[in-house]
Amino acid sequence: MAFHIYSIISKRKSLWVEWVYLHHLRERSLWDIPIQNNTCWSWRKLLQIRPIVRNFFVSKIGNGESTFLWYNNWSEHCPLSSYVTTRQMNREGLSIYSKVADVIQDNRWIWPDAWRDIFPILFQLNPITIDPHKVDTILWKKQGDSMEPFSTKVAWDSIRRTGQRVDWYNMVWSSFTIPRHSFLMWLICRRKLATQDRIQQWYNAMGNANMMCCLLCNRGLETHEHLFFECPYSNQIWVSLRRKMDMNQIDGNWEDVVTWVLPHAKSKRLIWVIRKLEIAAMAYFVWQEINARFFNNQLRRLRSLKS
Ligand SMILES: [Zn+2]
Repeated sequence: MAFHIYSIISKRKSLWVEWVYLHHLRERSLWDIPIQNNTCWSWRKLLQIRPIVRNFFVSKIGNGESTFLWYNNWSEHCPLSSYVTTRQMNREGLSIYSKVADVIQDNRWIWPDAWRDIFPILFQLNPITIDPHKVDTILWKKQGDSMEPFSTKVAWDSIRRTGQRVDWYNMVWSSFTIPRHSFLMWLICRRKLATQDRIQQWYNAMGNANMMCCLLCNRGLETHEHLFFECPYSNQIWVSLRRKMDMNQIDGNWEDVVTWVLPHAKSKRLIWVIRKLEIAAMAYFVWQEINARFFNNQLRRLRSLKS
């Protein structure tokens, strides 16, 4: 989304950007576009994230001809639209379409005299040297106010919340593991799988006895603990894998598996890489089997899952 915003405000050469200017902006600034009731979903989503990224996008003035005077961040006091209303702009021959170059002459500000008392801050802005041979550019402001060209990586690093790395990180995320397996492992470690006990909490009033029955064994309550691996069905798969991969010392619950793997989670030794792959794959196929039974009413024989 931040990349789309960058594409628009930097007028990146693309058909989509041309289309956006033609149908949505019509030469207005992206930062000035209101969200209407009839705004389509995708455009609304893009407009809604503007407050998150706006302060990171900074205009570096070249000729000043493409930087919106009131809406872009080109000075520490921007956006200037927070001081001057549209009516006041229009009264002095300026508008929402005005660019920085419109108020600079011979590298000096030419603000309307009538504003000297009401908007003194405009007259105190640092002078800007216009270079007619350079176009304006959009940069990304990082922490510490350093600027650099926009990239999705830099944007992501600035916006995301960085928390403390969890101890099971290397068990879940690895260049060897299939991404969808890693994602499921991540959900399991965070206990975020949509097991039936959690679903019943969400729909508390709607809970019923049928929903609470494990679809693999038709006996236990479907919880994280049950699936990994108190359930007789998943436990048989786990015991089979445990034997093959020489992991007999691990008991049959998820916490034991994690505790046993963690000290070796960073290991590049083939046996540990394969063990991590196998555990992730097994968890994935157990969860896939539940979903196949729930949504498609399809049952796979235990033997085929074990293999
Ligand atoms: Zn079960």
